[in-house]
Amino acid sequence: MDVRAQISMMFHLDKCIGCHTCSVACKNIWTDREGTEYMWWNNVETKPGTGYPTKWEEQDKYKGGWEQKGKSIKLKVADKASTFTNIFHQPHMPTVDDYYEPWTYNYGELFDAKAGDDQPTARAVSLLTGKHIDIKSGPNWDDDLGGSSIYAKNDPNMENLSEAQKEAFFEMERMVIFYLPRICNHCLNPTCVASCPSGALYKRGEDGIVLLDQNACRGWRFCISGCPYKKTFYNWKSGKSEKCILCYPRLESGQAPACFHSCVGRIRYLGVLLYDADKIEATASASEEELVELQREMILDPHDPEVIAQAEQNGVHFSMIEAAQKSPVYKFVKEWKMALPLHPEFRTLPMLFYIPPLLPVLGYVDKGLYKVDAEDYFGSLDRARLPMQYLASLFAAGNEEQVRMPLEKLLAVRSYRRFKEVGDVDSAELEAMLKKTGLTEEACEEIYRLTSLPTIEDRFVIPASHREYATELAMNDDSNTFRAEIGFGGFKGRIERGL
Ligand code: SF4
Ligand code: SF4
Repeated sequence: MDVRAQISMMFHLDKCIGCHTCSVACKNIWTDREGTEYMWWNNVETKPGTGYPTKWEEQDKYKGGWEQKGKSIKLKVADKASTFTNIFHQPHMPTVDDYYEPWTYNYGELFDAKAGDDQPTARAVSLLTGKHIDIKSGPNWDDDLGGSSIYAKNDPNMENLSEAQKEAFFEMERMVIFYLPRICNHCLNPTCVASCPSGALYKRGEDGIVLLDQNACRGWRFCISGCPYKKTFYNWKSGKSEKCILCYPRLESGQAPACFHSCVGRIRYLGVLLYDADKIEATASASEEELVELQREMILDPHDPEVIAQAEQNGVHFSMIEAAQKSPVYKFVKEWKMALPLHPEFRTLPMLFYIPPLLPVLGYVDKGLYKVDAEDYFGSLDRARLPMQYLASLFAAGNEEQVRMPLEKLLAVRSYRRFKEVGDVDSAELEAMLKKTGLTEEACEEIYRLTSLPTIEDRFVIPASHREYATELAMNDDSNTFRAEIGFGGFKGRIERGL
């Protein structure tokens, strides 16, 4: 057992209101510079929809992530030989059209326009060329179009739905959207790290944050193709790649990352997970049905004395172990099994987990009319407006059972609260739900409190920083810093442990 610590995240999707405050907070701090105009380290997309960059989930097009090869895995984007022969040629990257052409408005025209019969307008100006442009797309175009079915129909996760299901999905009244906020997942098996020929990307030893060394980056952009979530970006001004740094300077001073701190819906939770790094390769190479369960199994019980002893032996600081014991992410992901990784089939073992959206399940369409079934208040999951296959495609590599259980648990918590507060759920009904989901009344109460009434300290359990135990960032390759390799088959990336 090789115990390591990882700062991990959980987003509760039923709570996201799509306000984009998170994106703006991040942009103001990190990407409000020339060369980064189009970058959104944090973006919020509308689902169903094609996302940002458009159709980022289609790995046949972008070649991101890992693919199974025998009992192991290999990078989709390239192997070692083809990387060197094609180092100047990167055919699988998103183009500016796949992101969007960044623009501003010529506000001066509002004031300086000559007197005339028409109102002056501030026309859009490209931030790349400085010329007037007609805006054709933007960072959340799906939402700008009000969840238009034209875009939604191109969502790659719709693929496995039957024609009848698609039709029902897009029936006007049934059209349903939810918001999917995304940042870098700070993966345990990151393809950005493994695909970089310069070794510029690395996973920070003490907390697993994935960083990109600007001095080492040569701008080959393999990380951009390699990351299946398209969360590394190329800065056209500096000629280097950039990515989310999980606001590590804020974390080191005990503050949550800006997107977490500013989140209006309070959907974001942050905490430490201890995991067994010996299981990375076997988990990442597992069959699609097993991926979610095995990723959960890698996460270790931070109260287990054997885990604590191994962690200490590995140099994991006690502040990390303590933070892991109080981690809300541990509770949602491991204890209650309610949060799932986004697209586990990319095999990067993402460390950002999502509680899938339940959405109101009480509404349904009858003869073109939207109705609410007040009798059967909680209805059945199979009547939920989002087809289970769609959610399974997003959060469970198609394994419906893995998304059904978190949703059943959300329903059980709602029933428990109505049983207590309204009294229109009878005790036999509640008991049956608890039995089915394996939850107790105490667990329902705790889930309810951590979901609805958490303090900032409940949501963000940030370990005290111990950079003195990990000085590798100040050292170069000639240092004595321990560097382990990660990655399989192709390039090996670095994990640094300045212990
Ligand atoms: S592979 Fe994972 S760690 Fe690397 S940029 Fe993509 S999401 Fe982040
Ligand atoms: S700030 Fe929070 S609620 Fe608003 S869009 Fe971002 S994640 Fe959603």
